[in-house]
Amino acid sequence: MKQIPLGSTGVSIFPLIYGTLPLGPLQAGLSPEEGGKLIRHALENGVNMIDTAALYGTYPHIRAGLAGWQGQVTIASKTHAADRITARMHVEEALRELGREQLDIVHIHGARLSDPFTDRSEILAELLLMQQEGKIAHVGLSSHYIEAFRLALQHPEIKVVHPLINRTGMGILDGSADDMAEAIRSCANAGKGVYAMKALAGGNLISEARQSMAYVAALNGVHGVAVGMLSQQEIDANIAFFEHGVADDKVWKELENRRRRLKIMEQFCKGCGQCVEICGSKALSLVDGRAKVDESACILCGYCGAGCPEFMIRVV
Ligand code: SF4
Ligand code: SF4
Repeated sequence: MKQIPLGSTGVSIFPLIYGTLPLGPLQAGLSPEEGGKLIRHALENGVNMIDTAALYGTYPHIRAGLAGWQGQVTIASKTHAADRITARMHVEEALRELGREQLDIVHIHGARLSDPFTDRSEILAELLLMQQEGKIAHVGLSSHYIEAFRLALQHPEIKVVHPLINRTGMGILDGSADDMAEAIRSCANAGKGVYAMKALAGGNLISEARQSMAYVAALNGVHGVAVGMLSQQEIDANIAFFEHGVADDKVWKELENRRRRLKIMEQFCKGCGQCVEICGSKALSLVDGRAKVDESACILCGYCGAGCPEFMIRVV
């Protein structure tokens, strides 16, 4: 299988990375056994990197998928902690729940941070300390802000970056897809490992999945793409796509035609109402301080997903 060096980390990866967010309670809510089976299927067919986070609730799924697995696998997790005690707790929890002595990559989960080096300096210091202690191999940074990656260029201690990028730029908070692509190139040129997130904009670009995936996969400096996958068919189609550039028309049409709906992760909705203002179809309203969708009015255009500052709306 194809192997791409993840920057200067010394790790080589197959460019399709298993994004585990959709398996867990925030989205599809698969059991650890169901999710583990999917992860194992991906591993057996060449995937060798898994992306997760303290927030996702998918450590049990990963542990189930890895039970008895002898092959090499790279696991990246993230901490959204705002203080060093919580950051340490997140790392310890990941080690315990995954049954490992070291995490390959731990990111500052900075989706909404344009300057994590100021706003999360304490977290960075703690992760670097845990790296010295041998609990983390590489420290990374994930963000939806281009500025965060521009700043990361001055921080050689950040070895891996996880930027949001897709063909339409949906969800990038301070510029266009081209601007993010440039920051990505610079990070890769500086020796950082780069793997992308939200190539399909959280499902909003599913009807043009092939085109959207091809755009991100071909970007200069992108070593891998984290993709959330919920069926063996989807895993197989993505592996063929990333290994051979093959996209079987029948299979991909089926994936692209999946019945879709708008999913609002209500438990994290801040009730700011921005999505309600954006929706031209008047399909959204605030009920008890949380956004609700009227499915009969929703045309699944995905504009509200791009406008939610918490990135809590997806088309699934
Ligand atoms: S997907 Fe489009 S139509 Fe549906 S709620 Fe969001 S903005 Fe409104
Ligand atoms: S934009 Fe996001 S956080 Fe704000 S009300 Fe809508 S779903 Fe909630």
